[in-house]
Amino acid sequence: MPPPVFRFAPSPNGYLHLGHAYSALLNADLARASGGTLLLRIEDIDRTRCRPEFEQAIYEDLAWLGVAWDGEVRRQSDHLELYRSAVERLAARGLVYPAFESRAEIARLVAAQDQVAEWPRDPDGAPLYPGIGQRLAAVERAELIAAGIPYALRLDMAAALALAGELSWRELGSGPGGEAGTIGARPEAWGDVIVARKETPTSYHLSVVIDDALQGVTEVVRGADLFWSTSVHRLLQHLLGLPPPVYRHHALLRDAEGRKLSKSTGATGLRELRAAGVTPAEVRTMVGLAAPA
Ligand code: GLU
Repeated sequence: MPPPVFRFAPSPNGYLHLGHAYSALLNADLARASGGTLLLRIEDIDRTRCRPEFEQAIYEDLAWLGVAWDGEVRRQSDHLELYRSAVERLAARGLVYPAFESRAEIARLVAAQDQVAEWPRDPDGAPLYPGIGQRLAAVERAELIAAGIPYALRLDMAAALALAGELSWRELGSGPGGEAGTIGARPEAWGDVIVARKETPTSYHLSVVIDDALQGVTEVVRGADLFWSTSVHRLLQHLLGLPPPVYRHHALLRDAEGRKLSKSTGATGLRELRAAGVTPAEVRTMVGLAAPA
């Protein structure tokens, strides 16, 4: 068996905190213990929230932590054409459709539906897309496009599922409910997900599966908040003919009140900890990792 390939894939939309440190150190430990490699990927497709100073801080904070990566850093914003061509492949098979509504319009529609009966939510709690774009007549759709109305491209989930059939993934970690082993994918729980956003020709789900495959990643180690996203990743891998890695979702670190750490959690920010004189070895202890052998 070739040595495993791991990756740490932060988004530069804030400073790294203890939760990121845990994920990065766990990836680095697993890579070292298995004689594998660790890659670093900057997931910066969201141009409104990502900033160069956050990216710079990622390099500094990882260097301080002692997390070294192999090879060149891959920055997603450098590969938009690649993602665009993958979306075109899906479009050529009739698997995506344009959706023109704004978030506010979708929220209004869903609120109206909620009056009748509770509208279904995805595993993150967001309402499923009500499918309006799909029901547009071809001529209406063409008119909106010609008028320059921006649109996202959504996956026709029913058509995609009909092609893919049952899918599963190998889980080495644990999910929100402690699941491990072979997990049945449930992409339908997400509805018609966005594959290309209005402002960028890709989405988190699409770029992550393309990059993991292109970079030869064999083991994805990431937080349990992304456990059920793996359902969508398995479906896109199937549709695009990409090999699935194995997954190891890890528990999320929580703050004293039991809340998931967020980018704004100042007290757990690695820069704040460093300024307060905390050492990288102490960070390992704080996140519950043993000293390296
Ligand atoms: N970029 C994502 C984040 O920072 C992680 C994506 C992944 O590991 O699949 O939350």
